[in-house]
Amino acid sequence: MGMELSVAGLTDVGLARKHNEDCYEINRDHNLYVVADGMGGHSHGEVASRIAVDSICDFIIAEGADCDGAFGARLEEAVRSAHEEVLRAIVRDASLQGMGTTVVGMQVCGKRAALAHVGDSRAYRWRDNQLGLLTQDHTWVHEQVLAGYLSEEQARHHPLKNVVTRALGSEKEVVVDLQQVDLASGDTYLICSDGLTSMLDDPEIADVLRQSSDLEEISRTLVSEANRLGGLDNVTVVLFAVS
Ligand code: CA
Repeated sequence: MGMELSVAGLTDVGLARKHNEDCYEINRDHNLYVVADGMGGHSHGEVASRIAVDSICDFIIAEGADCDGAFGARLEEAVRSAHEEVLRAIVRDASLQGMGTTVVGMQVCGKRAALAHVGDSRAYRWRDNQLGLLTQDHTWVHEQVLAGYLSEEQARHHPLKNVVTRALGSEKEVVVDLQQVDLASGDTYLICSDGLTSMLDDPEIADVLRQSSDLEEISRTLVSEANRLGGLDNVTVVLFAVS
């Protein structure tokens, strides 16, 4: 028993970078949405984020998208296999050493969604005119916030704010955060790279969501706002709404 979903996605290189190392995929057949933000010199971030997105989609397609009790575990397994794929690419080509990628993926099954993430790409829920952050950044500054050493505001402007503590491809083992989300009619979900959230704070993102219910328009506005505020990074947004 599926819910009606509308979907939109957009990625943009921004104003400061030469390459777009973000990538995203929307797979409507499997209600699967993935955003990845690659890192590594010589545009190798592009390689890592593409491998991650492709291997997550391939894994889900190969395993089938049955809405059984295992669909969350399957998404987590897909992220793990993406991590293995990034590591294998580095073994095959030593010049790729140091590449890695964040990933955030959501898969809708009936009235629930699985949400898996690694790194500082985020997922938000827009419900009842309120924006809620569903993910915790795997960053050094966020760890300092949790420990009480930095405020959220200090973390936003900290020189080490881009240091991620988890990424696909960076360690032998990866720890994937997995959660189940209960969907309600009227919800809109946003998954995005940090190129959005480093330029717009949560109230600014909420303002954009409040002004329109057209997902294509929201995507374009979020990207253009990120660029208007500096466009210092690649920016990627994927939105889906439950009707
Ligand atoms: Ca980024």
